[in-house]
Amino acid sequence: MSELRYDNQTVVVTGAGGGLGKAYALFFGSRGANVVVNDLGGSHKGEGQSSKAADVVVDEIRKAGGKAVANYDSVENGEAIIDTAIKTFGRIDILINNAGILRDISFKNMKDQDWDLINRVHIYGAYKCARAAWPHFRKQKFGRVINTASAAGLFGSFGQANYSAAKLSQVGFTETLAKEGAKYNIIANVIAPIAASRMTATVMPPEVLEQLKPEWVVPLVAVLVHSSNTSESGSIFEVGGGHIAKLRWERAKGALLKTDSSLTPQSILAKWNDVEDFSKPSHPTGPADFMTLLEEAQQLPPNPT
Ligand code: NAD
Repeated sequence: MSELRYDNQTVVVTGAGGGLGKAYALFFGSRGANVVVNDLGGSHKGEGQSSKAADVVVDEIRKAGGKAVANYDSVENGEAIIDTAIKTFGRIDILINNAGILRDISFKNMKDQDWDLINRVHIYGAYKCARAAWPHFRKQKFGRVINTASAAGLFGSFGQANYSAAKLSQVGFTETLAKEGAKYNIIANVIAPIAASRMTATVMPPEVLEQLKPEWVVPLVAVLVHSSNTSESGSIFEVGGGHIAKLRWERAKGALLKTDSSLTPQSILAKWNDVEDFSKPSHPTGPADFMTLLEEAQQLPPNPT
């Protein structure tokens, strides 16, 4: 198979000064793309800022013969980041919403600031960058977006109520972008990565981290954002340490109850086995089948009590 390349395309990678973002930026820089290396350069808790993180990555790409420019804005100023792409390279083709911070704290002790800051970076930041890129994507009938979720968002994680909520938001966000973008060849996917970075350095032992190089996440992202991917959109991927798998929603058999006065708490309890029967699951991708269910419910005999 020939090497995937991104010549003449512009890739914006947010939070590209370290960890996963740096690995993406170096990869795209080595495969012909113009890279906007965005990084605010603050701490992993979202404090402070510095131009150094982005500059180091830009230097590395340029020294290797690639094309890159630094941007030091917070993702909350998405327009300024996309502007850097347009002013420097004349276009934006691929957006990798990767920037992130943590404000881990038990829910009991969580302050509004911990909640709000996480939301501003992960949700508002991803929105602002995608919103600014969107008109360009639509006009040129090409756009590729990667949003970044997390296992913490999909499954919950002790001490991360703020982060979990923000990260799962990226799933719904991506699924809607995929639906709205389809007509314009805009493809959006969301990944739940796992990789060694300053975010995970304190919570995993060194021998595990050794197997979780950010570089092992890059190839999946490379495939998803390449122009040859014209159909894989709105999907959720778990990726890290060589493992790559799609995730999806699963619906149990479910109980269908007649919607009259016999629909009582008691009637639901009587059907509880069906409510949680995953022996023959379905995998819904939208709310369309709901109307059929409503019609069926009307034809049913009275509910059990
Ligand atoms: P990291 O801390 O190494 O990298 C995140 C980068 O984002 C940093 O360089 C930071 O300066 C930058 N950043 C933070 N706030 C910013 C802002 N407002 N504007 C611009 N840049 C900002 O962490 P990482 O592990 O490489 O994480 C990358 C992404 O992957 C994050 O969204 C994270 O939540 C997600 N993630 C990582 C893991 C993992 O195992 N490493 C797991 C699940 C999800």
